[in-house]
Amino acid sequence: MIRRQDIRELAQFECGEGSALSFYFQPRTPLNKSHREEAILAKDLVRSALREVDKNGKGKSARADLDRILEIAESLHGNQARAKAIFACSQQGFWREFDLPPRLAGSSISVNQRFHLRPLAAILGSMYRAAVVLVNRTQARRFGLTLDDVAEREEIKAELPRRGRSDGFAGYDAGHAQRHVEHEAMHHFKVVAERMKELYDTGMSGNFIVGCRDETWAEFEPHLHSYVRQHLLGRVALDPATATLEQVREQGLRVLTEARVNRSEGVLREVLGQAQRNGRGAVGLRRVLRSLETGEVQALLLGDKFEAPGVECTNCGHLDFHMGDSCAVCGQPVRQLSDIADVLIGDALRKGIEIIYVEQNADLENVGHIGALLRFRSDQNTPMKQAG
Ligand SMILES: [Zn+2]
Repeated sequence: MIRRQDIRELAQFECGEGSALSFYFQPRTPLNKSHREEAILAKDLVRSALREVDKNGKGKSARADLDRILEIAESLHGNQARAKAIFACSQQGFWREFDLPPRLAGSSISVNQRFHLRPLAAILGSMYRAAVVLVNRTQARRFGLTLDDVAEREEIKAELPRRGRSDGFAGYDAGHAQRHVEHEAMHHFKVVAERMKELYDTGMSGNFIVGCRDETWAEFEPHLHSYVRQHLLGRVALDPATATLEQVREQGLRVLTEARVNRSEGVLREVLGQAQRNGRGAVGLRRVLRSLETGEVQALLLGDKFEAPGVECTNCGHLDFHMGDSCAVCGQPVRQLSDIADVLIGDALRKGIEIIYVEQNADLENVGHIGALLRFRSDQNTPMKQAG
């Protein structure tokens, strides 16, 4: 599991000698029936990186790391459940290993001044995780769901007022007992809804999936806070009394995956439409870089085939796709980047910009594989005068 702060740390890492090593292993994809190929490919990648380092001497302190990675690659096999990423720089004593959801575009290795982060774009974004809350009239259970994991987190319980249950119902008429049950159910729904609001407010959950029966939904839904409702990805028909972890994983994942696709397609449509009207959309690397520097970007759309070299100023951090020796802004020396996306991803995470990875979309490919949804346009910041 890799956290946002891990990626931020990786994004900040620099190695002047150019021996920062990034290794990704993607186990077999469903299309690839051969279990061995991916593991063999991974070993070949490491061996050829070793040859490369021996041949031209560049990044030669990466040799020890490559030997260690080769050893690990030899233990990998194509049918394992998780993908793997290793970031290393023996020159600075840096070594991080992560298990990842098996959703990378492929295995790869790179030796450079910065870590190669673009493959991580596939597993970033707000639609990576959700809280699944199963609720019936007396019980509620919460699960944490990510694209590659599910775990039960808590049972949500009301603090019942102390009331001697033993001397309770005997003297009540049937109607009274019924009203009492209704009242307890309403109280329970309120407590669950309140807990969800708290999870949202504290930043513990940004997305929700509710599991309940249809008749329960009609009773429970009115209690949900408006912004919890806005972040409701969908509903599954599971009861907390009987649901298994596997059911939560399977059905929750279906909702989460669909929500991811809807979200990326929705934002893309908006960006393309807005860009045409000169509004809150930017497309193409030139416009996106400018918007990032003026702080306009709300969400960054990154196509799966985006790849562009660039330069980064060592002084002011200005990013450019013109390959000069000095910064266009401050004139100080720049550093060459083999893939500008590595820095863009770190930059976006630092600024709290949502990263949306878009797979195989011709519309985004046509405008240069990259786009951004803007909060505002810095060149149009005079409010429109309303007529009349
Ligand atoms: Zn500069």
